[in-house]
Amino acid sequence: MRTHTTRQSLEAALAPERRAGRRIGFVPTMGALHDGHASLMRAARVGSDVVVASIFVNPLQFGPGEDFSRYPRDLAADTRLAARAGVDHLFVPSAQEMYPAGVPSTRVEVGPIGQVGEGCWRPGFFSGVATVCLKLFHIVAPDRAWFGHKDAQQLAVIRQMVADLDLPVAIVGCPTVREPDGLAVSSRNAYLDGPSRRAAPALAQALFAAREAVDAGASSAAEVRRVVQEHLAAVPEVRLQYADLFDPDTFACRDEVGAAAILAAAAEVGGTRLIDNVTLERTLAGVGSRGHPPDPGVPEYRFSTR
Ligand code: AMP
Repeated sequence: MRTHTTRQSLEAALAPERRAGRRIGFVPTMGALHDGHASLMRAARVGSDVVVASIFVNPLQFGPGEDFSRYPRDLAADTRLAARAGVDHLFVPSAQEMYPAGVPSTRVEVGPIGQVGEGCWRPGFFSGVATVCLKLFHIVAPDRAWFGHKDAQQLAVIRQMVADLDLPVAIVGCPTVREPDGLAVSSRNAYLDGPSRRAAPALAQALFAAREAVDAGASSAAEVRRVVQEHLAAVPEVRLQYADLFDPDTFACRDEVGAAAILAAAAEVGGTRLIDNVTLERTLAGVGSRGHPPDPGVPEYRFSTR
């Protein structure tokens, strides 16, 4: 695996690969790599000839008072994990390399999809994410890029941007990788102290309880939200911020599960903000919410529960 800190170095390495017709796969990350990131890299390894991953803690997507300066950074450990997961080229640009003119005036405006769910709690977040991903797509020029369902709204934002702006990249979604107790693996889990870590799985378990309620016939957002709230009422350390239903494609808010919906939630646990989601599906028989099938060519992973 080669590490590149400049776009010039990365572009020079990729140009002959592209000329030879080799398919380039891309996994953008913010580092502090874990099993969730590794699952995307391994899927990219299977689905492409050349695998590029990036590590960039993007200042544009952090709001004032958020954790930009203390976001975990460990390039040595990240390099080992990426190499083991089959990455060929690791792109680790500085802020100066990504934004040589300083904070860019031109941003991607994502519209209504960025004003619900996470967008309500983190104004400007999705514009920052879309802007950096657009820049990275131009630099890497991948054939396919892999994103996690863990950040389901982000995945929907990226798919929308690719469709709206005719970007020549196919977006592949991968299942959420979880700890054995259900907690979605996240770089921010490193912030959790002992009691918070013990309480945190309650968020995922509340979402699973809601999925079971849908399997048993619940169909409205109000019913689903009540199940989540009741589950978390017993765990005061987990302070729910929202639990809402969204359309799986557009991320428009939904009052009913319908054929399928994403139940996305955020909670604050001991000063750390955690997000999670599950896909709810109602079959014609009115039962079954086992998540949408994996994208073609994407292997399933241990501990993956959508
Ligand atoms: P991040 O470094 O948090 O910006 O995440 C980089 C990519 O990894 C995004 O596409 C995330 O959705 C994905 N990701 C993060 N956590 C997980 C997880 N637990 N399972 C699967 N994908 C994940």
